Amino acid sequence: MNFNAHFDDISENYLFAEVANRTAKYTAAHPDKKILKLGIGDVTLPLAPAVIKAMHEAVDEMSQKQTFRGYGPYEGYDFLRESIKNYYKTFGVSVGMDEIFVSDGAKSDLGNMPDIFSVDDCVLVPDPVYPVYVDSNLMAGRKIIYANATAENGFLPMPDKKVKADIIYMCSPNNPTGAAYDKSQLKEWVDYANSLGAIILYDAAYECFISEERLARSIFQIEGARTCAIEFCSFSKIAGFTGTRCGYTVIPKELVRGGRSANKMWLRRQSTKFNGVPYIVQRGAAAVFTESGMSEINKNIQVYRRNAKLIAGAMEELGVFFTGGKNSPYIWLKCPDNMGSWQFFDYLLSNAQVVGTPGEGFGENGKGFFRLTAFGSEEVTAEAVGRIKNLLK
Ligand code: PLP
Repeated sequence: MNFNAHFDDISENYLFAEVANRTAKYTAAHPDKKILKLGIGDVTLPLAPAVIKAMHEAVDEMSQKQTFRGYGPYEGYDFLRESIKNYYKTFGVSVGMDEIFVSDGAKSDLGNMPDIFSVDDCVLVPDPVYPVYVDSNLMAGRKIIYANATAENGFLPMPDKKVKADIIYMCSPNNPTGAAYDKSQLKEWVDYANSLGAIILYDAAYECFISEERLARSIFQIEGARTCAIEFCSFSKIAGFTGTRCGYTVIPKELVRGGRSANKMWLRRQSTKFNGVPYIVQRGAAAVFTESGMSEINKNIQVYRRNAKLIAGAMEELGVFFTGGKNSPYIWLKCPDNMGSWQFFDYLLSNAQVVGTPGEGFGENGKGFFRLTAFGSEEVTAEAVGRIKNLLK
């Protein structure tokens, strides 16, 4: 018997553990100090009342013989897929019901999608990036190459025609850099992928933070994307479902390679390894896209947007280089005085008692950068921004 030796290729998942470790050590030594956390990307506002009401009603349905539900469809209930389809219409994208797959979140689908690809496919991943793309391919033994995201390209790498990739991961607005591609940049990526016969795996988990028309809410707003892209989306950030778990993936019927349909293969994969999202959760998710649901969640998103604006405004005032903050809940800043990421982490913790995330945890190009999130409460964010301004002025 042999375990999968490719697990030796993935690094220890130590980023948030080390953040927690250093924070706990500091707290133990300074129990009188109040720590403000702008580190992890979890939301802090509760689920919207419309979502809670729909989930309560669904719980009641489960208690009655006539309305009880057992196993649901692998790809999600029609009522939820219909509302996702209508949500796409609000930004001018037409997708078929049978192109939408409901799941327990974008992370699972992003991590599981490589099941349908060949082990010989070459994977192009931006650096720095959300670590799931890299680790799930390394586990399967695939070769990974990197597209350098740097301060020089605004953390938005563009296609290099000399590079031949088969699978291309993109995340816009990006975690951790907060940078977002505009439609013309995405068109270049779509044309590049189509010319190579490659597939783009487009992570749109933060699309709800986009406020500018020149940016895309969905890769399918770009002409040609239906023949080369799969889109991953989530209820986590738009509606606070990080603990409730629901997401969706869109796979167009036109996405065919070597006579094989990605849509069909994914349905086959899901029906083998996945038994659907709870009915109660799907009812809650569908309520997000009702009129009252949208108006309630928009109030929450506005809170996070104001936080992001406050943090970004402070960086501008301090003359610190940063990306994000505008169409994203993340502010990605260059550590002052050429400090390293962990050095700045310790400096900020010791002198302002503010916790953020060291950029190097997201890739080589994250060295010397630092991520702050706008998902904290308004009070904590305002206090943290005041302390950061005092320290760095
Ligand atoms: N994609 C990106 C870029 C993320 O940052 C996250 C979570 O932080 C996810 C996907 C995961 O989303 P979900 O909660 O739907 O699994």
